[in-house]
Amino acid sequence: MSKFEDEDGKPSTIVWWRPMKPTREEASLAETLVFWDISKFPVPSTFDAGRVGPTIKRFLELDGYCGNLTINAVGILTDVPPCILQALSSTGINLYHSPHGTSDIRLLISQWISKNLPPANILGICDPRGFPPPLTGFNLFRPFSYFSPEEDALLWGSSLRTVSMTTGEDMFSETNDSASWFCLTCKQLGGQGHESFSKHLSGRKHSQGSFSKKKST
Ligand SMILES: [Zn+2]
Repeated sequence: MSKFEDEDGKPSTIVWWRPMKPTREEASLAETLVFWDISKFPVPSTFDAGRVGPTIKRFLELDGYCGNLTINAVGILTDVPPCILQALSSTGINLYHSPHGTSDIRLLISQWISKNLPPANILGICDPRGFPPPLTGFNLFRPFSYFSPEEDALLWGSSLRTVSMTTGEDMFSETNDSASWFCLTCKQLGGQGHESFSKHLSGRKHSQGSFSKKKST
């Protein structure tokens, strides 16, 4: 199927700008990236952080998305309890310490799209303004419709609880110790695993990076 045909099947030269969603089959098999704003959508207080990754995976499977999955938690991670970060990292969720929330998410999605070929699915558990303009073959979506920030946070908590109840215990026992971390304050310095991440956040290099950023703003 040509990308340059219009709805009548006639060749057209003016449809470059129009985003084209992957077909249902393409989307179901394509790689899926999740950008989760953990500052705006925190792990609910009564929810086991180690269950978030498998629950997001289950949520996507229920919707027919079965391709490779990468989950990125983005936010001011110095405000997130270390035990939560450890549980997320040990279940394969990449950690991005980001001082600018929504605009950093928008940048990360744009950077990923610029380096990868469609089709791909991008789930943004984030403010709608975190999405860059859609591009052909990239399926950008949210887990639920947007009403307000308060409604969003409530829906996030209730969705996690509802979907986790349908998730088999075998999914929660999967472990993955290869999660990466990145520090956007320190110009994207990164590494592997929670231990080296917490060492970085409490280290001199990070505090110098935070200080010089504050000075320049
Ligand atoms: Zn840093």
